[in-house]
Amino acid sequence: MASDLDVLADLAIADVAYLEARKSFEEMAPKIAALDRKLAGQERDLATARSAVERAVRTRRDKERESMSLDSDLARLAARSEQMKKQEAIKAQERELESVRDHKSELETAILELMDQEEKGQALVVVREKALEDARAALSSERGTLVAEQSRRQGRLQTAESRRAALVPLLSGPLRPKYERVYASKAGLAVALVERSACGSCHSNLAPQILMDLRKRTGPGICEACGRLMVWVGP
Ligand SMILES: [Zn+2]
Repeated sequence: MASDLDVLADLAIADVAYLEARKSFEEMAPKIAALDRKLAGQERDLATARSAVERAVRTRRDKERESMSLDSDLARLAARSEQMKKQEAIKAQERELESVRDHKSELETAILELMDQEEKGQALVVVREKALEDARAALSSERGTLVAEQSRRQGRLQTAESRRAALVPLLSGPLRPKYERVYASKAGLAVALVERSACGSCHSNLAPQILMDLRKRTGPGICEACGRLMVWVGP
């Protein structure tokens, strides 16, 4: 029984170490994901700025084509004007010429505005490209550090896990399934050591008779308050 008690005492420590290692390992993935989200946000901002420029360029080219197509109308109308004899017809012709000219002038104004938009949009693209590049440079070293830390913690977790896995089979007879049951029901903390006459896990005071029995080290006790296996260590 003495060896079982030693194994339980070692498990009390190994289980705590395993839980701590798991918690510290699990902290890393959200930190890395947060960095990745930050970069993805900047990539989206840049894509938005780029597509705004592309839209302005497309609209401007449409208007330039339309404006050019008006040139032939203008030339045809102008030539016809000269050949017209009747005053009324000339007036109608002049009105048509005027309207095409106005339309062309509107198009030209719109084209200039679009060019202005493109220029400003392109400047924003450059700013966002630079910001993304800077963020990538800054975050990639931060990410590398986090990934290295994550892998270090994973190593520690594996060590803690192997330590537990090596100890559990050393428990003899029915003690092993008993330990496993408490382990499952107590979220991975199955064994408590006696500390200052109390349960080292839930800190409830233990009755003098229970303390005396535990001190004899003839077998593990059970904490009546938290249900964990109790082991006396030390004198
Ligand atoms: Zn307890």
